[in-house]
Amino acid sequence: MAEQRLEPILNPVDLAKSLSGQHFIDGALVPARSGECFDVFNPATQKVMGQAAKGNADDVDAAVKSAAAAQKEWKKRPARERGKLIADCGLVLAAHADELARLIALETGKALRTESRVETGVLADAFTFYGGLGSELKGETVPFNPSMLTVTLREPLGVVGAIIPWNVPLMLMALKIAPALVAGNTVVVKSAEEAPLTVLRVCQLMNQILPKGCFNILSGYGPECGAPLVEHPEIAKITFTGSVETGKIVNRTAAERLIPVTLELGGKSPMIIMADADLDRAVAGAVSGMRFTRQGQSCTASSRIFVHDSLHDAFVSALTEKVNAMTMGDPLDDGTDIGCIISPEQLEKVKGYIDLGKNTANAVAHECSALPTDPALQDGLFVRPVIFTGLTNQDRICREEIFGPVTCVIRFKDYDEVIAMANDSDFGLAATIWTKDLKTAMDATQRLEAGFVQVNQNLVVQPNLSYGGIKQSGMGREASLEAMLEYFTEKKTVIINMT
Ligand code: ADP
Repeated sequence: MAEQRLEPILNPVDLAKSLSGQHFIDGALVPARSGECFDVFNPATQKVMGQAAKGNADDVDAAVKSAAAAQKEWKKRPARERGKLIADCGLVLAAHADELARLIALETGKALRTESRVETGVLADAFTFYGGLGSELKGETVPFNPSMLTVTLREPLGVVGAIIPWNVPLMLMALKIAPALVAGNTVVVKSAEEAPLTVLRVCQLMNQILPKGCFNILSGYGPECGAPLVEHPEIAKITFTGSVETGKIVNRTAAERLIPVTLELGGKSPMIIMADADLDRAVAGAVSGMRFTRQGQSCTASSRIFVHDSLHDAFVSALTEKVNAMTMGDPLDDGTDIGCIISPEQLEKVKGYIDLGKNTANAVAHECSALPTDPALQDGLFVRPVIFTGLTNQDRICREEIFGPVTCVIRFKDYDEVIAMANDSDFGLAATIWTKDLKTAMDATQRLEAGFVQVNQNLVVQPNLSYGGIKQSGMGREASLEAMLEYFTEKKTVIINMT
C-alpha cells in the first residue's frame, strides 16, 4: 500500500492535463502502445480539455494479462479482506468527491450541483455497500444423500471486462467493478470515448489501495479497443452498458466464446399518472424522472408520460412552468440546474428527434428554459428541453430512445388502455405509476413490463436494489447482493463421500 496518498486536485483543467494520454495498466499510468491519443472535449465550450490514450488490441492484451496475473493472488485473499479494501476505496473516493465531481462536470457537461456531486456520492456509496458483502459470498448445503456431504461454493469467474458509457460513467463503473472485485475477480474497464478521464482518476486513486493489476482501465474507440476486450481469450465475462446495437454485437461475440454477459441497454420508460394522483408530487416526479438536470441522458428517463384526461392540461402547464424555471448554464457553476449535451453527434441526434416531433401530426412542442447567454458558452452543446403533447404512443418519437431532454405527454382515459400503451414498447427498463389507490398500484406493479417499477416516486438506481431490464433493455441485473452472486461468480457443486 502506498504510504503517500494523492491529494485532491480541485482545478479540473489541471487534473485533466495530469491524466491525459494515459491508460492505467498493471498499477501505473501508461501511454498507448501505439503512442496515439485522441482529443477529449469540454462540451460546454467545445474546446479541447485533454487527451485520451487510443487503445488497441495490444493495450487490451497487456491489461488483461496483468489482470489475469493479479487474479491468481486476489482470489486467494479472504473475501472479507477483499471487501475491506473495496470499502477503503470508498473512503478515498469520498475524500476526493469534490475533485471528481468537478472533473466529470467539465468532461460531460453535467451540472455540478444537480448531477455531478450526486454521482460522486453514489460512486463512493457503491464501494462502501459492496465492501461489506465479502462474507456474503456463501454457497449452500444440499440434502443430497445422508452419507455424502454436498455443498455449493461461489467462486470468481476470472478477469471481467467492463464496457461503460459516458452518461453516468462513475456510477455505472462502480456497480460493475465493486461486486466483481469483492467476488474475487479482477477487472479491465474500457471507458467511453467521450468521458475517459474521470474514471481514469478513480482507477488511479483505487490503485493506491488495491494490489497492482486488479483494476486496469483503457480508453479507446469501441471497435478498436472494446471489441478486442470482448474477444480476448482470457476474459471470462463481459458486463456492458450502452446502446442496443452495440449490446447485440457484444452479445454475439460473447456467445461465440461461450462467456456470460450482462447487458444494460436502452429504455423508453413510462410514467402513468392516474386521475387520483397528487399532482404536485407527480410533476416533481416527472422533473426528476425525466432527468431534465442530466439533459435527459438517462436510460431510465421517463420519456413517455401518460396522464389521465382530467389532469392532463394542469399537469402539462405545471411541468412546463417547472422546467422553464430551471437555469441552463455553465456546468461548473453552482447556480446551474441544466448543463449541456455530451457531443455534437448526440446534439444532432436530439435536434433531429425534436424536428421529427414537431413535424408529427397534432404535435405541440413546449420548449422550456432559456439557452445560456454567457459568450464563453456560445459554442456549447446546449439544447432547450421539449415537452411534447398531442402525440400518440405509436409515433416514432414515442417509440425510439432519444437520450436527450425530450419527453412526450400522452393523454389517456382508461386504466387498461394505459397499461397496454405503457407495455407497447420494445423496451422494458423502468416504469412508475402515480395513484392513491392501493389496488391500482398493486395491480400495475404486476402488469407493467419493466425490471424496475415504482409507485409514487422516481428514485434512481440504488446500490442495494437489483436493477436491469427486460425486452430490448438488456439482460442480467446489476446492483444488490444478488447481482454479485449471480453475475460475478460461478457455482461449484462439491460432494464429499463419507463412507
Ligand atoms: P452510445 O451511443 O451511448 O455511445 P455505445 O453502445 O456506442 O453507446 O457505446 C457504449 C460503449 O460501448 C462505449 O464504451 C463504446 O466505446 C463501446 N463500444 C462501441 N462499439 C463497440 C464494439 N463494437 N465492441 C465493444 N465495445 C464497443
